[in-house]
Amino acid sequence: MLEAQLEMTDKIGYLLLKKGIIDHKILEQALKIKEADQAKLKRNLAQILVDEFKFDHDIIFREVAVLYAFKELNFPIEELPEERITEMKNMMTKQGEEIKKLLLDHRVIPFKFDDKIRDKLILAAVDPTDRALAKIAYALNAKKFEINYLRKKDFDKLVGLLVSTENEFLKMMQESHEEMHVAEDESSVNEEELDAEINKSALINLIEASLIEGTRRGVSDIHLIPKSGNKTEIHFRLDGKLALWHTQENTLPEAVMAVVKDRSKGMDRFEREKAQDGFIQREIDGHIIRFRVSVLPTVGTELKNKFESIVIRILDDRKVIKDLSKLGLVGYSNQAFVKAISAPQGMIILTGPTGSGKSTTLIAALYQVINPTKNVLTVEDPVEYVIEGARQLKIGYKMNFEQAIRAILRHDPDIVLVGEMRDKETAETAIKLANTGHLTFSTLHTNDAPSAVARLYKMGVEPFLIAYAINIIVAQRLIRKLCESCKKKVTNVEEYVRLAGMDPKDWIGAELYEEVGCDKCNHSGYKGRMAIHEALYFTKEIRRLIVHSGEDVDEEAIREQARKDGTLSLRDAGFQKAKLGLTSIPEVIGATMED
Ligand SMILES: [Zn+2]
Repeated sequence: MLEAQLEMTDKIGYLLLKKGIIDHKILEQALKIKEADQAKLKRNLAQILVDEFKFDHDIIFREVAVLYAFKELNFPIEELPEERITEMKNMMTKQGEEIKKLLLDHRVIPFKFDDKIRDKLILAAVDPTDRALAKIAYALNAKKFEINYLRKKDFDKLVGLLVSTENEFLKMMQESHEEMHVAEDESSVNEEELDAEINKSALINLIEASLIEGTRRGVSDIHLIPKSGNKTEIHFRLDGKLALWHTQENTLPEAVMAVVKDRSKGMDRFEREKAQDGFIQREIDGHIIRFRVSVLPTVGTELKNKFESIVIRILDDRKVIKDLSKLGLVGYSNQAFVKAISAPQGMIILTGPTGSGKSTTLIAALYQVINPTKNVLTVEDPVEYVIEGARQLKIGYKMNFEQAIRAILRHDPDIVLVGEMRDKETAETAIKLANTGHLTFSTLHTNDAPSAVARLYKMGVEPFLIAYAINIIVAQRLIRKLCESCKKKVTNVEEYVRLAGMDPKDWIGAELYEEVGCDKCNHSGYKGRMAIHEALYFTKEIRRLIVHSGEDVDEEAIREQARKDGTLSLRDAGFQKAKLGLTSIPEVIGATMED
């Protein structure tokens, strides 16, 4: 299409092409979709690019906002005063639940009334071109209105503040005075009585409330722990630490567990003898949240009664980091990592214990290299997050992990993610892929990067394969951040580091902070977590060392060479963060202790 003609027919497409945000091919495809759109309200090109081509919403819509002269709301959401939040909340709920839902569906917030024109309502919209906005303004009883553009990530934050304080299930739970009935004989389960109890709305409210509350607080897992005396404890894991959220008393733990099992796809409520996995899906605050449920039979304290323990992992796609710069990779680790994933082929291995955030980093790295010209395949068991632009293989009883690994070789991939190298076969397949022109991402369970080399060697992978297939091995840990509201400067650094068993000479002139505890951090002194990394980039020297391994891989020699190349150990990477006042020395030492 001629440019002049395009400028007339599709201003958005013309602008995005001019700015190099989209190319001719994508533009042509998007225009075709727009042409063929059967919906009553035809989508514009920006909406199509975000919906169908998975372009970043904010990149596209910032241009659209400029093009159509929508004002952009740009300010730190965290700094909104409490009374403004209350005011917005009131405006959202005043016209009833239906209107509130409409607002959330269309991602628009009644922001405020104009300072000068008092009856003009300012609407903050993620998509200012949404044709429903006029109708929404009308529903909010606004005589006049103005649409401002609000970035999607700011909208998400704001909605968190506006909607999160209410949990209707929690409210119902607190208001309900339903009597809990307890069976006399604890040792056997009377299915009929259990049934009666399970159907009590109080229990259902409790479980639904925990799903919503857990999601809103950003917890990673919900633990349901049966206790003797007809009690069940619900714990939330937040920033890596478990904390009690609720104790359900005077109720058979079996009943609580059965309610969860009833609501999980793929679970049998009457099965109490074996481990089961299931899924729950809910829409919470306008987002689809998935929950992976794991049930394990356990014994009670008196050993006579059988219990089940349940852990629910919250899979919130909003938590997926797509931007590598947000992972906290710094200095040499960052340079080495970027270089490793920019290579046309080779392996990128993340290592660390469970809960060290390996997959978060791996997925963020994958997002850097995914583009429509690449066939990206993933084999994970289980699939935790939906990765846009990748084909994620489904592991199940008809195709297991090993079969899937074999099958990907025949599915013409460019980039492959192998969730975990569990054994020689998986490792060799991953390495084969890396050696035959594919960029391959995977994880291993080892303490640090050099020991990952030794692990592969012990699995029986040939040293020359290890040496030449791998681009980088990155070890990762999550450490807690000091609470910014209460952390305190260490007055006597010399004594402080000596007590921690370190040489004060290495800490001359360092400014260190320690934890205190306040209301904002639940009196723990810490708030939030960050990642630290040890990046073992495969330089010529490292490769030479591995190829020449005899009976054993010399981990120490690799460590020594890596240090010369610029690698920081996990502990030193942590100390670097401590020197920036972001964390404390004991936290670093605790998190980097060898198992
Ligand atoms: Zn604090």
